[in-house]
Amino acid sequence: MAEMRSPAIVLRGRDYREADRLVTLLTRDAGKVTVVARGTKKTKSKFSALVEPLTLGHFLLRRGKSLDTLIQGEIIKPYNSLRKDLLLFTYAQYFCEVCERSLPENEPAVPVFTLLLTALETLETEADSARVARCFELNLLDELGFRPVLDACCTCGTATGPFLFTPGHGGLLCGHCPREPGSFPVSGATVAIMQRFLDQGFHRLAVCNVSPAANEEIRKVCAGIFRDSLGVAQLKTLSFLKTMESI
Ligand SMILES: [Zn+2]
Repeated sequence: MAEMRSPAIVLRGRDYREADRLVTLLTRDAGKVTVVARGTKKTKSKFSALVEPLTLGHFLLRRGKSLDTLIQGEIIKPYNSLRKDLLLFTYAQYFCEVCERSLPENEPAVPVFTLLLTALETLETEADSARVARCFELNLLDELGFRPVLDACCTCGTATGPFLFTPGHGGLLCGHCPREPGSFPVSGATVAIMQRFLDQGFHRLAVCNVSPAANEEIRKVCAGIFRDSLGVAQLKTLSFLKTMESI
């Protein structure tokens, strides 16, 4: 079987057989892959830290028909600063979970790999973690081919608001067009922030002011598209984040 060497980030790990772990990686070169990491259930294994979720490393894998096998690897960055803070760690795990749930296996996804790393790097320094999350969600949807249509009503084409957002169509709906089930209002300010996030990514994110109301609207827009277009809903980390933020 062929071997592959690639940088990758660990999205998820779970116990497998008596002593092994089954690890989901987002590799730079082959997208999402599932890997058997032999013996890593034991804490004294030399690879047990390497296969912890959120670890960025160099991985050497033996490719298999359905599962790959970890041969060798080394940690590039364990993101310790994110692990020390429960809220930051939960946001980082949320980024990993949404990638794990929305990416197909074994399809190269270099832009998503780069986006996830940029989001984690930004999370380490950015004061407003929710703002990082909203920017990440929108840009991930864009990379997956589900960029929301934000320049005009997706039914009649008018650029004059106020608008609703309709997750089923992935775009705006003006007040004159028939209301779609599941649609909800979005303010002009929210639409402008979403366009800025999509056009500029994480560049100068700190100067972009996102009110709590706009944050909530963007969260609903993204959650609606993930649910209706990708079938990704009920993320464990997202419900935990909501609980933490309401305390
Ligand atoms: Zn319309």
